[in-house]
Amino acid sequence: MDSSKSEDANILHVFWNEGMLNHDLGTGLFDTLEDPGFLEVLEKHPENADRIRNMLSILRKGPIAPYIQWHTGRAAYLSELYSFHTPEYVDMLAKASTAGGKTLCHGTRLNPGSWEAALLAAGTTLEAMHYILDGHGKLSYALVRPPGHHAQPTQADGYCFLNNAGLAVQLAVESGCKRVAVVDIDVHYGNGTAEGFYERDDVLTISLHMNHGSWGPSHLQTGLHDEVGRGKGLGFNLNVPLPNGTGDKGYEHAMHELVVPAISKFMPEMILLVIGQDSSAFDPNGRECLTMEGYRKIGQIMRQQADQFSGGRLLVVQEGGYHITYAAYCLHATLEGVLSLPHPLLSDPLAYYPEYDMYSERVTFIKNYWQGLISTTDKSN
Ligand SMILES: [Zn+2]
Repeated sequence: MDSSKSEDANILHVFWNEGMLNHDLGTGLFDTLEDPGFLEVLEKHPENADRIRNMLSILRKGPIAPYIQWHTGRAAYLSELYSFHTPEYVDMLAKASTAGGKTLCHGTRLNPGSWEAALLAAGTTLEAMHYILDGHGKLSYALVRPPGHHAQPTQADGYCFLNNAGLAVQLAVESGCKRVAVVDIDVHYGNGTAEGFYERDDVLTISLHMNHGSWGPSHLQTGLHDEVGRGKGLGFNLNVPLPNGTGDKGYEHAMHELVVPAISKFMPEMILLVIGQDSSAFDPNGRECLTMEGYRKIGQIMRQQADQFSGGRLLVVQEGGYHITYAAYCLHATLEGVLSLPHPLLSDPLAYYPEYDMYSERVTFIKNYWQGLISTTDKSN
């Protein structure tokens, strides 16, 4: 990269480390980690290294490449994990790794190489946040796996061991940011991040997700609109559960009607955009039907929020996204939006999914609920 590019404010700093490819959940019946023996061809576990290889590839070879500066991530120190996870939980994971692995919950197994990859994901996300906090850049993207947003302070869940975004939020707070906002657009509820900050009023957690509800002992949270934080944190967790098939227009509506007003009221000094391409129209794990256009628009809106409130500082953190082709394309589109580029760089090879506009009506219901809550908590303060 020549020096003129590094002086350009509109550069995306991508943090990555090859070691994260060594986490391997093998093949099985979808994400069960098991083979009942009925099929001749089994697919890889959805959270596989190939999906990330394609994301890496499209950022290196796609038309967004000139806007990217690459940085090598690192492993987190165990002591860094204690800002979000309990020492007992971290110790359990480390011991499970030493013992050769452990299945922690449905679809989520620590195999040889997994713990090292998880530490790299956490440390790489922390580096990406450090880069912004130290004033070296304003836009960072942590291209990481295993994902993190389901990992709770004491519980692995949904392919996640360590909460990469949650650790970065804590770093920002400990570095002096008085208010940090997290907007999670992975198709699943960012329950781990919400749980970690559920009683905090200095971290606003927002999650847009498909209305999947609780899914067992590792994921007790419902993700419904009435999970709004507790105690001091009441009114600082905004859940936007959306019907299957919500699509680009429904998501844009939710962003404008719910996310933007919540951020404007909170006035964050740092913003995280937690992304999962499993909200796309072709993902095996989700049914929200976003296309590249919808992802691009969300990226643009979040960049506008960062420009308005956090001095342009925005950390993007990778979560799910399991269609190994379309996830990469949707990532490219999201980051085009984050870079606020005036025209799309890459056309959508798959967008033919018809949208049903009525799905945006759900947003109005959540908005009415949320506004009622906010006015009540404002009066009590
Ligand atoms: Zn997901």
